[in-house]
Amino acid sequence: MKMKRYLKFYIVIRDSTPIPDKQHTQQQVFKRKTNNQLKINFMQKKISWRLSALVLSFIFPITINVHAQQKNSKPSSTSAALPLDPAVRTGKLSNGFTYYIRHNEEPQKRVTLYLVNKVGSILEDEDQRGLAHFMEHMSFNGTTHYPKNELINYLQKSGVRFGADINASTNYDQTVYQLPLPADNPELLKNGIQILRDWAQNATLDPVEIDKERGVVLEEKRLGKGASERMQQQYMPVILDNSRYASRSPIGTDKVLNNFKPATIRRFYHDWYRPDLQAIIVVGDINVNQIEKQIRLKFADLKNPANERPRPSYHVALTGKNHFVAVTDKEMTATVAEVIIKHAQLPLRSAEDYRKMIIRGLFNTMLGERYAELSRKPNLPFIQAAAGINGFIGALDSYDATVVAKPGELEHSFKALWLETERVKRFGFTIAELERAKKVSFNQIEATYEERDKAPSESYVEEYMALFLKHTPSPGIAREFQLVKQYLPGISLPEVNQIAADYVTSANRDILILAPDKYKGQLPAESLVLRWMDEVSREQLKPIEHKQSAATVLITPPAPGKIISEQQDKESGITTLVLSNGIKVLLKPTTYKNNEILFTAFSPGGTSVYSDGDFQSASFANVVPSFGAGHLDNDELNKYLSGKQINIRPFISERIQGVNGAAANKDMESAMELMYAYFTEPRKDPVLSDNMLSRSKAELANRSDSPGSVYQDTVSAVLGNYNIRRTGPSMEKLNRINPDRAFEIYKERFANAAGLTFLFVGSTDSVSMKPLIEKYIASLPVTGSPDEAKDLHIHIPEGVIERRVYKGNEPKATVTLVYSGPFDYSPENELKMEAVKEVIQIRLIERLREEESGVYSPYARVAVTKLPEGRFNLFISFGCGPQNADKLIASAQDEITKLRTDGPRQVNVDKFKAESLRTMETKIQSNDFWLGYLNGQLQNAESINQINGYSAMINKITAADIKEFANTYLSGKNFIKLILLPGK
Ligand SMILES: [Zn+2]
Repeated sequence: MKMKRYLKFYIVIRDSTPIPDKQHTQQQVFKRKTNNQLKINFMQKKISWRLSALVLSFIFPITINVHAQQKNSKPSSTSAALPLDPAVRTGKLSNGFTYYIRHNEEPQKRVTLYLVNKVGSILEDEDQRGLAHFMEHMSFNGTTHYPKNELINYLQKSGVRFGADINASTNYDQTVYQLPLPADNPELLKNGIQILRDWAQNATLDPVEIDKERGVVLEEKRLGKGASERMQQQYMPVILDNSRYASRSPIGTDKVLNNFKPATIRRFYHDWYRPDLQAIIVVGDINVNQIEKQIRLKFADLKNPANERPRPSYHVALTGKNHFVAVTDKEMTATVAEVIIKHAQLPLRSAEDYRKMIIRGLFNTMLGERYAELSRKPNLPFIQAAAGINGFIGALDSYDATVVAKPGELEHSFKALWLETERVKRFGFTIAELERAKKVSFNQIEATYEERDKAPSESYVEEYMALFLKHTPSPGIAREFQLVKQYLPGISLPEVNQIAADYVTSANRDILILAPDKYKGQLPAESLVLRWMDEVSREQLKPIEHKQSAATVLITPPAPGKIISEQQDKESGITTLVLSNGIKVLLKPTTYKNNEILFTAFSPGGTSVYSDGDFQSASFANVVPSFGAGHLDNDELNKYLSGKQINIRPFISERIQGVNGAAANKDMESAMELMYAYFTEPRKDPVLSDNMLSRSKAELANRSDSPGSVYQDTVSAVLGNYNIRRTGPSMEKLNRINPDRAFEIYKERFANAAGLTFLFVGSTDSVSMKPLIEKYIASLPVTGSPDEAKDLHIHIPEGVIERRVYKGNEPKATVTLVYSGPFDYSPENELKMEAVKEVIQIRLIERLREEESGVYSPYARVAVTKLPEGRFNLFISFGCGPQNADKLIASAQDEITKLRTDGPRQVNVDKFKAESLRTMETKIQSNDFWLGYLNGQLQNAESINQINGYSAMINKITAADIKEFANTYLSGKNFIKLILLPGK
């Protein structure tokens, strides 16, 4: 996923990247920590699982889980607009205000309210640059019914979290406010609708509040400063051909943000916040008729301004011109080249359009596969390369090909990138590739269809937003599935290959090169890059030939074992099995999804059992699963998995090793087989191994030029007490990796299954799982007693430590404050620590942001461990102006001192309780939660039914407890201050 980091330089300009606001990450309320690494591993797994959903949303951009109750009626004509899903109640008031309402019980007892405005930075006059976004901030700083900060205050008391729940974002063409609420409190729901009504036209825009908010928005802007922003300012106007989009970046200009008069923002609000550009979306566990009545009452009196300004649509013009921009920056760490070929956006209205969208999706899938294969070839010619058709800004689409070059090898890397595009254009794809891509597409939409009664409210909201803002149809998943079934089989290879001819063209083609300053003298001129492309086009090429893959994974099938005991826990609904090889299996059937089984397994050991000398190789052993298993190498395994919904990843973390996975019901046996293969038949792959190492080394080349990386490495080193297992990446560490040793360690960790505990959560039951468990888990080899993890005694150093890092060109500072020490672990104490963190977080926002206007998003988080020893750490972090760093640190410390002397304000304790209880109500309705929670309990040797006491434990926490904990743990005896400041 490293690609993202570089692609960001370009992705930031996409239409789909709004500025999210009020965002501070919330920690899980009921967090468990025996092993941080596992959590991270698991999260990564989940991310890639969701990536397929992302791909899906591109292939079928209107497919996001729509429930539908419509008849199988065929459209009268394929060019007619697709009708709206009849399960949505929609209407328009006489003032032009639109509404969409839908009943949905995922999650239960919740409702999501959105106010969507066809209003964004593109509508700003020259003296208003940045004010669409500023206006969005002001909606949280006083409205008719909620003066000053009352809105946030009221919602927090009702259990709605600031940032995690209530939020807003501003983009070029839209401003969106979101408010998820409990649906079981009619008073709150009524007030929620009032809040949206206030946002629509009744913001106070008090001059005093405006002045206070300037600092906050400028701090938000400061966070975006750095290499990517500086380079963007140079290339954006060029590739956007000086269109209005180039000069309407939503964050705006310092000049306007510092100096605008209240009348200027009032003018913006008056001109554009008006009913004919607004819609409300309500999806949730609600009575549709009642909500419709309330909306009709509340929003009917909204008025359009007299002599209203027309709301223009802006476009980036397709002039046929090609552009070339080469930009360097002191803090850029890699050389990136990107070819962007712009095209008019594909319309999406009718069934015919939908078919074209499917074809383009198939093309992208196959192209992505080609580039992935390229990365597996020996002597990798680049760090990363990718290509595909994406949505561009200003009603355009684009074919993008991007490469992150190896240091000093731009020509080589660029040619490798362009060669693959050229090959596809010249020879197209093969029938086998098309068939596989069709299988992937079909599986994805089928999976969405099968979960149609469990689609989350949020996914419906996304659809209705697209419908309101862009007229993207929302016909419902049943209709979409029908269209895919109807069209997919008939799509031919020439049709898909035609896409390359249509999109890889030589007009409207921009070439962008971003590089570190030090390569300035060596960067190619436009003529040279064009010559490279020309050379590639005249190269002798062969079409790709794919070898035949083995049909099965395992070389040696397992010898099944037996289940020797079975126990039911009525309270949790969990079945525990003990197998003939001693492995324990826990099964928790749930109904949150129709087709989702999540699993994890762990046994003690991990990298802790290896010496410091072996540690690098032991860490690197985590890549072994990517080499394939059994009969299948990496490439074959990818193809084998393409038609399946399976995600499995073995891992070795500090204190345990095991496997994380997810599968659809129908693929569960294949998942178990692959899991067994990862344990018993891992593979070596020297080519991939080399590629990974050389890529990591290349990425390190300019790391010391990035202020963020230098700071991160300092933080890791200081907090890890300079132990090599905790320090950041370095050439020395990479040089210590021995791939052969890594493979040995992998085998060693998985050769003996003694001590393993498996946990399955989801749409399964013990009847269907038992045969698979006997075949693939009871058969895992046990060759002795289980390992024990070693206590390495590495923890955050004690005492008072201060470190200042001076690096970077922008006037920006980053602050990290850390309190840590021994912790008296118990479930109650863990929650009390969580309460301490939350009241600090609330105060940091009130004081550093709202009162002192010194930061955008201060952030506190806490972690506690039980094993190997009870410890805690509490982090406070924020970005700010360098001149304010010490003052703001003093304010934060002052808040902690006050917490120790006076205790927390009761209202903040109440907010913590309301938020915790409300958040748990929805969290508990997911497989993710149960897998994470049970896994933590098992690793910590805590009761699996502890969650039942959660509300009681939360309710028992008092202000006095929090004060006592602040005194015990936040004395300041162990206090680390790490500050990043600009270079001297
Ligand atoms: Zn903002």
